[in-house]
Amino acid sequence: MTPLKRIVLLGPPGAGKGTQAKLLAARTGLLHLSTGDLLREEVARGSPLGTRAKGYMDRGDLVPDDLIIGMIRERIAQKSGFILDGFPRTVAQAEALARITPLDVVVNIGLAREEVIRRLSSRRVCRSCGRIYNLLFDPPPDAQRCAACGGELFQRDDDQAKVIENRYDVYAELTAPLVAFYGARGLLRDVDGSRPSAEILERVLTLVRG
Ligand code: AMP
Repeated sequence: MTPLKRIVLLGPPGAGKGTQAKLLAARTGLLHLSTGDLLREEVARGSPLGTRAKGYMDRGDLVPDDLIIGMIRERIAQKSGFILDGFPRTVAQAEALARITPLDVVVNIGLAREEVIRRLSSRRVCRSCGRIYNLLFDPPPDAQRCAACGGELFQRDDDQAKVIENRYDVYAELTAPLVAFYGARGLLRDVDGSRPSAEILERVLTLVRG
């Protein structure tokens, strides 16, 4: 079987898209593109895009479609393989993506609202290598330091309790319609995000192998 190479990971915040995208990229060699990571880099650099995006991100709202599409377009155009994590997040983004490139598979990682809130409030990220931990079910041996690279662990600003609920509501209103969008195109495959990460990875690899 030819491996499927143009992959979208869909799902609510905290479902494990970033974790799975990194594991999948390591196993397949495919390019991993996270619009959230790209935006956080723009914010950290203080670029014009980062400056415009920051307010939306801090509130847990979506950054406007035109900014996101402009940011991602050049990175995926002409690419024969990629894992998109956190994009598309609206029907307008999905339609724009369809004009840039065809997709092979959309993996929908499902997770209930209560579990999203529980997980995001206990998520920690390494400032150096980006490794994602969870204090509840994947705790770092040292709460301050990354076990992989020794970098400092931190809590994302938008993982604070008051922002998390808005992020889920934004997902439910604007991103969840993509389940039907890709279902209608025969591209959607469902994965249970409440399962252990290693088990999810095996399921995703099976899907990606077509
Ligand atoms: P994430 O790391 O995927 O949870 O994204 C963090 C934040 O970046 C989101 O809450 C949005 O404010 C913004 N963001 C990331 N990806 C997108 C996207 N595709 N469309 C709009 N905003 C996005």
